[in-house]
Amino acid sequence: MRRKLVAGNWKMHGNHKANAELLDGISGARPFGCDVAVCVPFPYLSEVAVALAGSDVRWGAQDCSQHEQGAYTGEVSAGMLHEFGCRYVIVGHSERRQYHAESDQLVADKAKAALGKGITPIVCVGETLAQREAGETEAVVKRQLSAVIHTLAHCAGEMVVAYEPVWAIGTGKVATPEQAQAVHAVLRAQLRAATPRADQMTLLYGGSVKPDNAAVLFAQPDIDGGLIGGAALKAADFVAICRAA
Ligand code: 13P
Repeated sequence: MRRKLVAGNWKMHGNHKANAELLDGISGARPFGCDVAVCVPFPYLSEVAVALAGSDVRWGAQDCSQHEQGAYTGEVSAGMLHEFGCRYVIVGHSERRQYHAESDQLVADKAKAALGKGITPIVCVGETLAQREAGETEAVVKRQLSAVIHTLAHCAGEMVVAYEPVWAIGTGKVATPEQAQAVHAVLRAQLRAATPRADQMTLLYGGSVKPDNAAVLFAQPDIDGGLIGGAALKAADFVAICRAA
């Protein structure tokens, strides 16, 4: 039986005051029956690490460089994230693929850099609306995942995969549990062919997860929790989603 994970992706939201209130609200609601994490903007990692020290709520970042160090202005390495106690780093979020032209191979290299520092990458895959309507969903997510599997080879079992249909992100249009499960089953089968640990791996769904739709999504056989955007910014909503897992 896989333990469920609910991770909040704060994206580029937050400030000192709002963060403190949000973290208080989350910590104060413990214990949870699942693993819980927040993935926060880089500048806040330090205060989040302090606020969550001694709590079982984990934290992470939203991106990392594929490089270990060097003249890469503006980049943040996995080694730096490790120094701030990051347990997770999101890589390949569709917003980075879309606005920063991140390729499948770059995403795979970032996942590898994270694993090299003992950080679990949360690898995001997902199709656009046009791709879904063209019947390409399965081919797209398989292509995205296969780059990561090939780059990681034997350590693919250490990562988390998040299926986030682009058309469901921030739109209020959630995938039906059947749609999400169907894609998760495809991803699980692909992982099974690559690693003996596929059945222990955590596969998250992301895209307009809210307190009122979380339980039915998380009840699907291959959905092991969620990657939460907007609803992760309100303690009450995020806590309710964690309770649904
Ligand atoms: P929303 O929950 O706001 O749709 O965002 C999902 C997401 O992109 C999480 O990474």
